[in-house]
Amino acid sequence: MNICVIGTGYVGLVTGVVFADLGNDVVCVDKNAAKIDGLNNGIMPIYEPGLEEMVSRNVGDGRLTFSTDLDPAVQKAEVVFIAVGTPPREDGSTNLDYVEDAAKGIARALNRYKVIVNKSTVPVGTGNFVRETIETNKRRAVDFDVVSNPEFLREGSAITDTLVPDRIVIGAANKVVAMRLLELYAPLERPMIVTDVASAEMIKYASNAFLATKISFANAIANVCEEAGADVNQVVKGMGLDSRIGQAFLSAGLGYGGSCFPKDTRSLLHTAQTFGYDFPLLEATIATNDDQPKRFIAKIHKALGGGDLHGKTVGVLGLAFKPNTDDMREAKSLDVIADLLASGATVKAYDPIAIENTKQVFPQITYCANAYEVATGADALVIVTEWNEFKVLNFERLASLMARTLILDGRNLYDPERLRRLGFEYHSIGRMSALPLGMSVPTDAPQAEKVPVSSL
Ligand code: NAD
Repeated sequence: MNICVIGTGYVGLVTGVVFADLGNDVVCVDKNAAKIDGLNNGIMPIYEPGLEEMVSRNVGDGRLTFSTDLDPAVQKAEVVFIAVGTPPREDGSTNLDYVEDAAKGIARALNRYKVIVNKSTVPVGTGNFVRETIETNKRRAVDFDVVSNPEFLREGSAITDTLVPDRIVIGAANKVVAMRLLELYAPLERPMIVTDVASAEMIKYASNAFLATKISFANAIANVCEEAGADVNQVVKGMGLDSRIGQAFLSAGLGYGGSCFPKDTRSLLHTAQTFGYDFPLLEATIATNDDQPKRFIAKIHKALGGGDLHGKTVGVLGLAFKPNTDDMREAKSLDVIADLLASGATVKAYDPIAIENTKQVFPQITYCANAYEVATGADALVIVTEWNEFKVLNFERLASLMARTLILDGRNLYDPERLRRLGFEYHSIGRMSALPLGMSVPTDAPQAEKVPVSSL
């Protein structure tokens, strides 16, 4: 099938290359000429495991091309995907300007019947908006249909998620239109659900809001655990083993970030409120998430002895909003580093992939080649992103390098008891702080006796 994908970002590029890999002829279009130039020279605009190899294979085989020229790409295609950004506006609503631009571009080029598929995350009702925009702006009396096909891939595992999705959602006005997409996705042999357009649009927001709520729930439980002397890691493990609950997205930390959950929860809240429903549950999810980094930053200050951090060096491990990506959108490291700098601290940082992107926000901090370089001379080490390579650090070596053996872990990566034995002062999320022998407990909270997870 001839396919055009408009928008060559995380979603558009991955969707385009996977469809090409399935044997389709795909043109990926972007208005960002530098991105297209790079792609035409084999340079990926994003880091995503397996992407470069798959792009290079499909370009080599002649099934995948990149262009800034929308008209010929649309005219050649039977199916046109819209995968442009849908950023948030100040009031939480979704900015549909890029979607509107793409729809107008399609309308101008429309030369024969096509299925227009909206893959961008858009508020319920946008399918109608796209249809009306194309209808108003088309230059020829040509028929078309608009389908909603929301995307569920996760950055860091985008290729696998696109090849093996849990489900494929197709929102179409009728079965004949839905069949075009069913055919396209059939080689993946994954569960497909066909709905009306509005329901498909809602499935995406409802799913993201539910996952965000799970994360905020775990964080709220962590905050109670911390006061009560319980261990949230053990609590969520005990909860998640219940098949009705499940382990996924049930872990305490610094809260959700990235380009999707924060904007999608706010957008759904805005949509609900436009329909006259306040959605207090979602409001609480968002408020809990906003609060989580602030609580962690307060912990850093408390451990370092106050608000003024002049003369203190803090090492930050992990910058990306989550592991296996270089995406910094709504990354918790941004909040943490901004506060450390405003408080006068000297900041050193390391991330396996996201350093170049972080330099654009914080050119003034020191970037290091690994965790041990970050730790050298540091008064505290702060864990922000749970990259695998931070899970197996050599703590004896770290201790010998640091000015003070203090770790603040925003991702609960380590066993507090082990760190205590190694002589570290260790603070994490929703668990008792571990203090080296001879050091007194700095909080008023009771300290619980540790219960082995296996006894749950
Ligand atoms: P992105 O910012 O990485 O890429 C969007 C691309 O669209 C950019 O390269 C931009 O130049 C291009 N673009 C904008 N307007 C254009 C136009 N009129 N013509 C051609 N190109 C245009 O965005 P993304 O992360 O790929 O997200 C795209 C959509 O998918 C969003 O709605 C997002 O919410 C949704 N989504 C994202 C993810 C994710 O993990 N990133 C997952 C699921 C859904």
